[in-house]
Amino acid sequence: MGNNHEMNRENMLDKVISIDYDYLTGLASRRGLYDYYYSLDKDKVVHAMFIDIDNFKRVNDVYGHSMGDKLLIGISELIQSNTQGFTCRMGGDEYVVLFDGAIPEEEMCAIAERLLAGMEQMDYRKDVRSLISLSIGIVLEQPVSQALDEVLAKCDSAMYQAKYDGKNRYTIYKAYDKTIEINRNIELEMEAALENGEFQVFLQPKMNMLTSAIYGAEALSRWVHPVDGIRHPVTYIPLFEKNGFISKLDMYVYEQVCRIKAGWTGKSYEHIPISVNMSRLHLYNRDFPNVLKSIADKYQIPLSELEIEITESIFIKDHEELIRMVDILRELGFLVSIDDFGSGFSALNLLKDLAVDTVKLDKEFLQVSSNTSRGKKVIRNVIGLCRDLKIDVVTEGVETKEQIDFITSCGCPIAQGFYYSKPLPLEDFELFAEEYASSTLKGCRFPLDGNLLSEDETLEGVYNGEMPIYTDGIFKDSKAFYFPGGEVSENTLRIPNEVLISDSFTISLWMKSEVNHPWTSAFYVKFETGFCSIMPYAWDSVSSFRVRDSKEVYGWYDVSACPLLPGNWYHYVATYNSKTEQAVAFINGEVVGVLQNIPINRFVKTIMLGGDAYQQSFKGNLCELIIYNETKDYDFVNELHQSYVQREDFVAKLTE
Ligand code: C2E
Ligand code: CA
Ligand code: CA
Repeated sequence: MGNNHEMNRENMLDKVISIDYDYLTGLASRRGLYDYYYSLDKDKVVHAMFIDIDNFKRVNDVYGHSMGDKLLIGISELIQSNTQGFTCRMGGDEYVVLFDGAIPEEEMCAIAERLLAGMEQMDYRKDVRSLISLSIGIVLEQPVSQALDEVLAKCDSAMYQAKYDGKNRYTIYKAYDKTIEINRNIELEMEAALENGEFQVFLQPKMNMLTSAIYGAEALSRWVHPVDGIRHPVTYIPLFEKNGFISKLDMYVYEQVCRIKAGWTGKSYEHIPISVNMSRLHLYNRDFPNVLKSIADKYQIPLSELEIEITESIFIKDHEELIRMVDILRELGFLVSIDDFGSGFSALNLLKDLAVDTVKLDKEFLQVSSNTSRGKKVIRNVIGLCRDLKIDVVTEGVETKEQIDFITSCGCPIAQGFYYSKPLPLEDFELFAEEYASSTLKGCRFPLDGNLLSEDETLEGVYNGEMPIYTDGIFKDSKAFYFPGGEVSENTLRIPNEVLISDSFTISLWMKSEVNHPWTSAFYVKFETGFCSIMPYAWDSVSSFRVRDSKEVYGWYDVSACPLLPGNWYHYVATYNSKTEQAVAFINGEVVGVLQNIPINRFVKTIMLGGDAYQQSFKGNLCELIIYNETKDYDFVNELHQSYVQREDFVAKLTE
C-alpha cells in the first residue's frame, strides 16, 4: 500500500511530509493531494491529469458496490503502473495525477493513450469492461505558485470536454488559442471590475403566456466595461468557468439579487421569484447551501422566492453528490431548476433521479424542434412528462406568437424570451414588472356589492342573466349579489380567468342559499383536466368542496363538511396545495374537512359563480369573493374571518 507514496516521494517530493491515504485504493486522498501540492517548491512547474470513469454509477447500480470498489482498485492499479507521478483518488470515481512539468507533451499524450488502451485489456469481467471507459483531462505546465484549485479547475474542464466529445478519450486544456490575448486582459481586469461594480445584474422576465402576467425573472450578468461598453456573457463566462472566477461572480450576482428584492418591499411584484445561474464549481462545496441561506437571511428574503438554475450539462457525470446537493437546497426551501434542458443527452435520466421544481426547456431545443412534426411531438411529450412529475416547465427563447400558441397548447404556460422582453437593467425591469404585475398574486377580491368589478376595478365579471339583482349583504349597508336560480348554466356569473394562475390556490366567499338543491355549485372552476366546485349541499345536506380529476375514471374527491342551513350566511374557504396535494375546507374560520392525495388540475377554462355546466343553478346570495394564488393556512383564514365578523357593522346571521 505504501508503494505509491514512496514512488511519489522519490519522483517529486523534496520535503518529507506525511500523506493522507484513501484506504480503498491506497492512493493519496484528496487531502493528501493538497498537502502534497502545497509542500512543493513554488517555482516548480507541474502537469496535471484528471481521470474520470465513464458510467461508473451504472456499475455500482447494476452490479453493486463491492464490484464498484473492485473496479476502483483495478483502475487505480492501472493508473499507477502507467504513470510516473503523484496519484490521488479525489473521492468517487475521480483520480488526479500530478506530473513533473518537464515531461514533454507527446509523452503525456502517450500516457493518456496507454490508460485508455489499458482499460480495454484490463483483467476484469467483460460485461463490466464493455460498459466503462475513461475520460481524461490534461493541463500542462502549471506553475505551482498558483492555487491548486485553479489547476484542478483547468484539468477538470478539459475532462468535461472529453465527456462532451463522447467519452473514452483525453483532451488537453487549451489556453493557447487566438483568444488568449483577450482572455489574459480579461483575467487581469476581472477582479478589479468586480470590486468597481462593473458587473451588473440584468433581469429577464418570465411570463405567464395565458394571462400576460409576470411570473418571475432570471438574473443575467453583464459586464459594463468603462471602455468597451456592455460585454455579453459569451465573452467572459466560458473563461471564468475555466479559471474559477465564476464562483465569485455567481455569488456576487446572487447577493445583488437579494439586495434588489429587499428593495421591492410593498411593490406589486415584491414576491416574484428570481432565479440565479450557478456554475457547477459550487456544487462540490458542502457549505454552499448554507452560504446561500445566510445571505438570503441577511436581506430577509424568503428562500422560496430564490431559484437556483443548474445547467443540464453538469449532470453529464450523473453525480450522486450533485443530486444530494439539489436535495439539500430544496430541503432548505430554495427553488431549483434544471437549465438548458434538452441540450444534452442526459435529459430523461435526470428526470428520473432528480427532484427539481422547474425544468427550463433549452432555447435551441425549442427553435430546432418546433419546426418539425416529430420535434413538436417530442416537446409536447416532454412537457407532459414534466407535468406528470409535478415539475413546472419554463420555455426559453420564445420569440414568436406561433411558438406561444404551440407551447401553451402543449400545456406549458410560462415562457422567457425576446417576444416579451430582453434581459433589462434594473430600472427598466421595474417599470416592466409594474406594468405586468398580476394583481391576483396577492389575492383578487370581488365584493359583489352593487357591481361586478374587482376591488381594484381592473377586472369585471359577466352575468348571463337579465338584470343583476343585489339584496342585503353581510354588513349593515352592504349588498350581496342575488342569484335567482335556474336550469343548467342559467343566471350564472363568469369571473375572468386571469384571477387564477397558480396550481395552488385559496377561494374565500360568503354564501347564503335559499333552498338546498343537491349538487348545485356556488363556485365552480372548469380546468382543462377536470373541475373544482364549492357545493353548499352535496348529499345528506352536507356541503362539499369537490375536485374532479378527468384524467382518472374514479377521480372524484370530496372535502365534505357539516350541513349548511338555508337562510343562514356562511363564510366558506377552500384551499388547495399542489405541492402537498392537500385540500382543506373551512367554514366560519374553522377547519371542517381535510383531504389528501388530490391530483393537480391545471389550465383554467372557466370560472363561474352561481352554477356549473351540469346542475341546476344556485339560488341565494354570494358576496366577498377573494381568490388567492397560493395556499393559505389556518391562521390566515381565521384572521380573515375575524376581520369580517368583528366589524361593527357586521349583521349577517351566523349559526353557531
Ligand atoms: P442561460 O442561463 O440559458 O440564459 C438565457 C440566455 O438566453 C440569455 O443570454 C438570454 O439573453 C438569452 N435569451 C433569452 N430569451 C431569448 C430569445 O428569445 N432568443 C434568444 N436567441 N436568446 C434569448 P445571455 O444573457 O447572453 O447569457 C448567456 C449565458 O451565460 C446564460 O445562458 C448563462 O448560462 C450564462 N450566464 C449569464 N450570466 C451568468 C452568471 O451570472 N453566472 C453564470 N454562472 N452564468 C451566467
Ligand atoms: Ca439560466
Ligand atoms: Ca437556459
